[in-house]
Amino acid sequence: MAIHHSLAELIGNTPLVTLNHVASDVRATIAVKIEYLNPGGSSKDRIAERIIDAAERAGQLKPGGVIVEPTSGNTGVGLALVAQQRGYRTIFTLPDKVSESKRAVLRAYGAEIVVTPTDAGPDDPRSYYQVAQRLADTIPGAFRPNQYDNPNGPASHYATTGPEIWRDTDGKVTHFIAGIGTGGTISGTGHYLKDASNGAVTVVGADPEGSIYSASDRSAIHQYDIEGVGEDFYPKAFDRTITDDIVKVNDHDAFLMTRRLAAEEALLVGGSSGMAVAAAVRYAREHNLDEHQLVVVLLPDSGRSYLEKIFNDDWMHAHGYGDIVEATAQPSLAA
Ligand code: PMP
Repeated sequence: MAIHHSLAELIGNTPLVTLNHVASDVRATIAVKIEYLNPGGSSKDRIAERIIDAAERAGQLKPGGVIVEPTSGNTGVGLALVAQQRGYRTIFTLPDKVSESKRAVLRAYGAEIVVTPTDAGPDDPRSYYQVAQRLADTIPGAFRPNQYDNPNGPASHYATTGPEIWRDTDGKVTHFIAGIGTGGTISGTGHYLKDASNGAVTVVGADPEGSIYSASDRSAIHQYDIEGVGEDFYPKAFDRTITDDIVKVNDHDAFLMTRRLAAEEALLVGGSSGMAVAAAVRYAREHNLDEHQLVVVLLPDSGRSYLEKIFNDDWMHAHGYGDIVEATAQPSLAA
């Protein structure tokens, strides 16, 4: 019988599908890897499982243990899902700017939430980083995954995401493109694909305009609206030697592509997915990639987490993206 014994068994083995409309002027095949089909709805399920496995093996997590992490989104869901199945408590600290619906998701999985002031910087004792560290230091049996530093993040992608792409393309993948947040996805997957192809696969990062990874200097670092990607420091999970190129994408182009993916490809994905596809299309055009090239783009999460933002016309108008609403509007039924 094909019955699984735990939802965690369903992590990984996400499918690839070609883009058929939004890149119609590109000769290369662009295939996307749909990570929202993981049980927790994102690529972060992969790292959660491996980080928890490794902590158990190292004796950092014991029965009755508590996982403490500053995270508002996908990593929290992944950790909560795996922790719940194994009987661990989870406590997440998050800044008060995080929407009530995101908090509700984490609570639904059984996580405890500690809300901290958004305006407290990383060095402020009230910040969500510092509060998490204090809780981890004082709660007996607490384990802090620290996804930005934990080598098991990239290792999970080396062990699963990379081999899946190699297998599902019969080793014909020529380019891998992904956004960079902690850098775990691009480092782990990129290294696997380079190893498997003797260095033939080209690895391209996609980065929001304003983030450090694609900034010419520190003065070019600024706020942006795309969530989950980009940084203002270099995390240990990101191996800076892995990318052959980094494509900078602004909020506008990322959000336009995000809306087009839903409207034209039936892919309801998040803004970092739209960013990665926008980067892939631009890269393919600028490098004249032809029909011999097979570009794989990783789409980290679902658009359902962004219904109040990217898919909300009022929010889009209020944030200066009104032209995108017009461009992706359905033809009016009114004569
Ligand atoms: N997109 C989204 C929505 C994410 O949550 C993340 C993880 N922060 C990423 C992209 C980037 O993945 P990584 O941290 O592996 O670089």
